[in-house]
Amino acid sequence: MKNQNDGLPGLGQLLSGSLTDASVQKATEGAPDFAILPWVNVVKIGGQSIMDRGRSAIYPLVEEIVANLGQHKMILGTGAGTRARHIYSLAIDLGLPTGVLTVLGTAVAWQNAQMLHYLLAQHGIPFIEPEGFGTLPHYLMERNAVVCQGMPPYKLWEPNPDSGRIPPQRTDTGCFLIAEVFGARKMIYVKDEDGLFTADPKKDPAAKHIPRISVQELLARDLHDLIVERAVLEFLERARNVREIQFVNGLKPGQLTAALNGEPVGTIIYRNGDAR
Ligand code: ADP
Ligand code: MG
Repeated sequence: MKNQNDGLPGLGQLLSGSLTDASVQKATEGAPDFAILPWVNVVKIGGQSIMDRGRSAIYPLVEEIVANLGQHKMILGTGAGTRARHIYSLAIDLGLPTGVLTVLGTAVAWQNAQMLHYLLAQHGIPFIEPEGFGTLPHYLMERNAVVCQGMPPYKLWEPNPDSGRIPPQRTDTGCFLIAEVFGARKMIYVKDEDGLFTADPKKDPAAKHIPRISVQELLARDLHDLIVERAVLEFLERARNVREIQFVNGLKPGQLTAALNGEPVGTIIYRNGDAR
């Protein structure tokens, strides 16, 4: 069958072939990627690491976010944290599936997003649900930031993890996927440590800081615990837009600003072939 769009790369094959055919999939590789919001920075505000610490951690961070509004545009996604862990343990005890745990965890990330939103409301910064993301570019142009909850909107559709039943794709992943789909300038995680260490610095005082590492090398090291959800590393490996992710200490004033300004603070995890 001849189609008038056959000139588009791979389209003839796409129309007539099977979408699960490996050669049809490969034929879609070549088209250049388009970055939808190339100037936006996705900033994830940690749940347990930041939000759960209350005023002493959140107020200075809100001040720093406000101070950056003139210079940088930000999608602020929130983590869930301790209340999610509580409800996960309750739901697991009740025998409820991963999809239900995800619904519950999303509600907690939503609560944190609500609080962050009201603290920033006087600056005209809206809270946006995924269904309202169509208005997000407008708010970013007008007000320079938006708040959203960090969970990917899978809810009941969240797939089971390799082991156990904790939702494997939580707020680190949701924020990463926003950065990837919009072709964001930066993906910055604001947590309570100076970045990635060889082990959890809260448990191992001898843990060493890793300022910069490729995602492939990090996966090969197979560390027992990480500062980021493992799903993010998998997705970074096959990202088309996001080249690197950065982790900064939100308890140290100026770290977020430095990362927004492109300074190599904290830890940068990059895709191989993108080392600079
Ligand atoms: P969030 O609040 O964004 O959900 P988490 O609490 O899930 O963040 O993850 C951050 C925590 O990860 C840090 O507070 C740190 O104690 C822990 N952590 C575990 N392993 C590591 C590691 N290898 N390097 C740094 N931090 C780690
Ligand atoms: Mg977490």
